[in-house]
Amino acid sequence: MTDIPPSSAEPRAIRGWKRAQLVLAPGPPPDLRFAGPVEAGHPYRADDVFRCRKGHRRVEPACTCGFYAVADPAALKASVVRTALLEVSLEGRVVRHRDCVRGERQRVRRIVVDGWCAFCVRPAVGLAAIAPLFGELPAPWHRAVPVCEAERASVVLRADDVAALLGNDEDGPTGAPAPIEVVWDRSQESPAAASLRRLTRARRGAAW
Ligand SMILES: [Zn+2]
Ligand SMILES: [Zn+2]
Repeated sequence: MTDIPPSSAEPRAIRGWKRAQLVLAPGPPPDLRFAGPVEAGHPYRADDVFRCRKGHRRVEPACTCGFYAVADPAALKASVVRTALLEVSLEGRVVRHRDCVRGERQRVRRIVVDGWCAFCVRPAVGLAAIAPLFGELPAPWHRAVPVCEAERASVVLRADDVAALLGNDEDGPTGAPAPIEVVWDRSQESPAAASLRRLTRARRGAAW
């Protein structure tokens, strides 16, 4: 376990990576938070402190409480739900495990969001709010999905406004907003384009 003393000059922080669902409250005004890929019942802010079900006030080595991250993004497992990749810094008491670290305070530094529309092959211009299917998110939270210009009527939050909204979350534990970098990732093929291509190939295969 590493116990990091708080310092007013330059607090030491541990950098890590994780996957999270983006959740959106339509508002107005809209609000954007993060939720775990599996346990999504407690959406967290871009700057937040941990909560323990057993009531620990500090991250407890023998417990499972705290915000989790891994040192290498390549070590993250694929998740079944749509997630964004987060680069975070963990502060306060940080417990190190063989495969991950968990800490008391987490600040999101960078978000890598799928840059393609969830419904077609166009680039995303913002986030729409989709009602959760199985009540897995508490009200007023919806799933945030990237959508294109053709779906602009459903856009709750423009792509250009995401960083400012998260960075200005003054209700965080310190009230001191940190800049957040938002990357709309189009380095991979659009999922819709990939499935269209698979479908075309399958049809061609069926014709032979
Ligand atoms: Zn605990
Ligand atoms: Zn679209």
